[in-house]
Amino acid sequence: MMATTHICVVGSGTMGNGIAHVFAQHGYSVSLVDVKQEFLDRAVKTISGNLDRQVKKGALTEAQKSETLAAISVSTDLAAASAEADLIIEVVSENLALKKQIFQTIDANAKPEAIIASNTSSISITTLAASTTRAAKVIGMHFMNPVPVMKLVEVIRALQTSDETYRQVEALTKAIGKVPVSVNDYPGFISNRILMPMINEAIQCVYEGVATAEAIDEIMKLGMAHPMGPLALADFIGLDICLAIMNVLSEGFDDSKYRPSPLLKKMVAAGFLGRKSGKGFYKYD
Ligand code: NAD
Repeated sequence: MMATTHICVVGSGTMGNGIAHVFAQHGYSVSLVDVKQEFLDRAVKTISGNLDRQVKKGALTEAQKSETLAAISVSTDLAAASAEADLIIEVVSENLALKKQIFQTIDANAKPEAIIASNTSSISITTLAASTTRAAKVIGMHFMNPVPVMKLVEVIRALQTSDETYRQVEALTKAIGKVPVSVNDYPGFISNRILMPMINEAIQCVYEGVATAEAIDEIMKLGMAHPMGPLALADFIGLDICLAIMNVLSEGFDDSKYRPSPLLKKMVAAGFLGRKSGKGFYKYD
């Protein structure tokens, strides 16, 4: 295959700006795409602030910061940006219809040899692959938040993904200083399939009055060496996202063991979504 030099990142939110940052920092030229210029401006500001933090810590020089920023160009034209990329990573909002539409635009405009990846947390990569004319070149690259800090990339193989595509993405993941881990495409992959039922069980323990949220988090931190308790983590992720992922597991496996806790459903209905709404299992300013 030809050398991968040009990456297109579609969606410049929480995850997209982090993914653009990391590729640019490792010498790739990156086009960052979103629907509005103001979203792109905000993403570049976020990347710049995160680079400043790396410079302050001594992890990066001022010159490296400038080079990283210079390697990122922004665009609201998905068709044009996809056409020049070797790898296009879709990082738009978690919505199947939207992702399918983005995949089709990319597929129609990208070079035939280009790979299309999705950062989805819960949508089937096999389904996304089937919406294109290059299913063997479609794969999941599930980055963790915050992207510049977290080492893991869960690399998800759709039923159609070729070994060659997997190997290329595995090599690229290593080239940006991350650790690829191979997973087959089933609901929740591995990360959320194991994490979310644990969070859901912690919520169920609050619901049944077994212990307070503080006590549960203390037990998991001090007893299991988790850096964050499951309920503080649920607030950080967003309770609406936790509920959506439990629903994906529940429907995807048709198994009652993944049933979301009634308390989780009730908190989401009340708009208590965690950090982003100021209230979840804890209060935030
Ligand atoms: P976000 O809402 O912060 O960002 C989504 C971005 O997509 C927004 O900037 C939005 O304007 C843009 N967008 C929407 N429609 C678009 C279009 N048609 N063209 C181009 N851009 C468009 O969301 P996020 O948290 O960054 O999540 C993005 C994806 O990453 C989701 O699939 C999510 O499941 C996954 N993910 C999120 C996390 C996390 O912790 N936030 C972790 C792993 C995976």
